[in-house]
Amino acid sequence: MKVLVASALILVGSCATLRHSKKIENLKNSISYDNESIVTQYLNTINTEDLKSHVEEISSDKYQGRMTGEKGHNDVCNYIRSYYDSLNIKAPESHPDYYQKVPKEALPDDLNESQNVIAYIEGSEFPNEYIYITAHSDHEGIVEGKIYPGADDNGSGTAAVFEMAEAFKKAANDGYRPKRSVVFLHVTAEEVGLHGSRYYTDNPIFPIENTVSTLNIDMIGRVDKRHKDNEDYIYVIGADRISTELHFIIQEANSSFVNLNLDYKYNEENDHNRYYYRSDHYNFALKNIPVVFFFNGEHEDYTKPTDTPDKINYPLLAKRTKLIFSTAWYLANSPNRLKSEII
Ligand SMILES: [Zn+2]
Repeated sequence: MKVLVASALILVGSCATLRHSKKIENLKNSISYDNESIVTQYLNTINTEDLKSHVEEISSDKYQGRMTGEKGHNDVCNYIRSYYDSLNIKAPESHPDYYQKVPKEALPDDLNESQNVIAYIEGSEFPNEYIYITAHSDHEGIVEGKIYPGADDNGSGTAAVFEMAEAFKKAANDGYRPKRSVVFLHVTAEEVGLHGSRYYTDNPIFPIENTVSTLNIDMIGRVDKRHKDNEDYIYVIGADRISTELHFIIQEANSSFVNLNLDYKYNEENDHNRYYYRSDHYNFALKNIPVVFFFNGEHEDYTKPTDTPDKINYPLLAKRTKLIFSTAWYLANSPNRLKSEII
């Protein structure tokens, strides 16, 4: 009797496994780009020279380390919105100056009010479905008389969002407007506790239930110790926690266009660094939105005044930006909206 029960269980177990692997197989097969050459055309507009000039601007001394609520950070936010304005990428109708004010009450005690900066390209077929590309705009400010430039953290992410926005805009101008709306969100007050993204997800400008996915970028311009002998990598964190489909879309984007080594080390549930909980995507995940966090890992200049633009690996930053762009392109143009479902 015991033996019978045991073998019946084994049988059930293996059928379930088979059904599961079939489902995964079907899911993977359903993901493909219908026009790779068009995607490639706009991927190729993302280039090292532009990324370098953006990182140099964002991390320059005139912004004084970009401390939330301080003049330097306010000035960089102004620079960010003028960038979108110059490309003719519009502000949300409800926030025509590109700013969402984050009041003092939503921030730690000693900080002045601040702002998230938001621009978007409206979708052609499903304008009320939104893909977010996010990066925090703030950094550590001036500590003990030293400016913290934060070239990697998060000049690299800010520059990547700029390049992707420009690529999406060029595509739209040429008749390849994304089917879904693509939102470029530069959140404030990340370094002091993810407050800008929390404020945004509690006070969303576009209905939160219409948010398809959030791709968050925080530090993608450097190489950590673990990869010093093979630099072509990026850590991918959290993609499979709310949507199995998102996990496989990133893999498809990668194998179709860039071929980086996708490192899932920090995606382990029990990873003691807990990076999944430590950048702005997490506030979107709390609202059950499929998120992914792109990250290069820590390095010797992390949160130090030596995080300078000359140390950024620009060809690698370009490659990683292309991975994120091709993922966003898929999410914005796929016939069906991404499913928030774990298989
Ligand atoms: Zn950061």
